[in-house]
Amino acid sequence: VLILLISISSFVPHFETRGSAKEKAIQFYRSCMDTQRIESQGNQLLKDLINQVGGWNITGIGKAKDFNETLQILMGRYNTFPFFRVHVGPSPSDPKTNVIQIHTQNQSIDGWVNGWSDLLLVICSYVLQVLRVYLSYLEKLGNLLGGLQDGPPHSFSLTLSFISNLQRVITPLQERRQRGMLFFRTTIRELQEKAPAIDWLSCLQAVFHPIPMNLSQPIAVHDMDYLRGMSQIIEEWHKERVPHIYMIVCLVGNLSPALDSRFQDARQELSKILYGKMESKVVISIFSHFSFSASSWQVAPWAVHSYYSIRHHMVVFPAGMFRSPFFHVEFPSAVNFGAIGVFMAHELLHVFYDYMRPGGCPTCNSSMLQKSIDCLVEQYESFGFKVNGTSTLLENTADTGGLAIAYQAYKNWLKKHKQEEYLPKIGLSQDQLFYLSFAHVMNSRLSSLDTDPHSPLPLRVYGPISNNQDFVKHFHCPRRSPMNPDSKCHIW
Ligand SMILES: [Zn+2]
Repeated sequence: VLILLISISSFVPHFETRGSAKEKAIQFYRSCMDTQRIESQGNQLLKDLINQVGGWNITGIGKAKDFNETLQILMGRYNTFPFFRVHVGPSPSDPKTNVIQIHTQNQSIDGWVNGWSDLLLVICSYVLQVLRVYLSYLEKLGNLLGGLQDGPPHSFSLTLSFISNLQRVITPLQERRQRGMLFFRTTIRELQEKAPAIDWLSCLQAVFHPIPMNLSQPIAVHDMDYLRGMSQIIEEWHKERVPHIYMIVCLVGNLSPALDSRFQDARQELSKILYGKMESKVVISIFSHFSFSASSWQVAPWAVHSYYSIRHHMVVFPAGMFRSPFFHVEFPSAVNFGAIGVFMAHELLHVFYDYMRPGGCPTCNSSMLQKSIDCLVEQYESFGFKVNGTSTLLENTADTGGLAIAYQAYKNWLKKHKQEEYLPKIGLSQDQLFYLSFAHVMNSRLSSLDTDPHSPLPLRVYGPISNNQDFVKHFHCPRRSPMNPDSKCHIW
């Protein structure tokens, strides 16, 4: 929100951009707190800005800007990235070197956040709905944004189908992972040939100004198929100026948190509608998208979803996970290791996802590795939940391995500390408590979205324990009983 406010402040006339960082911060704070002025300016500033970048008008009357020129202004000055995101981050093969990276939306390897690229449609239609609510409100005031007869409402339905077309060319994460296409090294010149609708050099220059850049600049692309498809779609829809309207929808969505209270009211009104209809989890993810798009975290601090971000090469445990039932200082360690310990091991295993793809581990015994992979794929498909063992493989590996590693870590902890709390009257050993805690937190999670790369929840407990020799031992499962099958699979 801060960055968004900064962006909007850059076209507020009284906002001074000179001075020390501290002075700027004070000025910025004052300009945000000056609600009277914000209210009195109303939507004039937004209207001016929309006109500056070419207007809503779908017929192209007026000073229509060139598509790429508008895109550059949005990316360079207003932190708005309608088609793809750009950042500089460590290269996965050499974490010490940074490289410019281009990707679709927030992408990470773990399930919940992974669903985001698939939520693109939901997020953008959310923006459209906000605009609809706001526009109908303004219509009542006889003050339509832009004041054009063939303005936004009619072009919204076109824009929605444009978004769903874009959505369709995103390559699912699992597929890119399997094809080893998560990081495709290329240059601006090559990218220009493959996705010609975008003026890549000018766009990247606008984002990274004043750093010099030329066509030979090496870059990494996260989903080349998407960029190619996106370029075609932009060209197909270009005539009707739909890509342009879409860009402005994104801009308005990005800036609206900093606008006057009517915009906030419209958002609130809409959130009420959305809360009524959707699972709160989805809504929370939409709102955190708006509030956290400028920060390096992809989830809110209070979230209970840890993840591994390939992009930042970073495992994230939000503060929300350091409380019951995941963790508590007064819980027996068996409970903590069985809960947050398993999630930590799970996320850390994702860091090594590369070893699993063909040729990803030159020093491994490849036939052994392939046997273990086949074993896991077959096993998860045999549980009878209509699971695709291949597309859930990485998660199943991390689930099975995470449980085993957290148990090992607990045993190591016991050796060092020797003292462990017992829960009175529960009649469970420490080892049993560890496994019970694991099953408890796993099943207390919210049910998954359709796009979740994890197995269904029962399998996230059932799979790892039926592959775990220690579980079988501590719960005295007879041989070939449901949780003690003869064939046990694991990679880590
Ligand atoms: Zn995972």
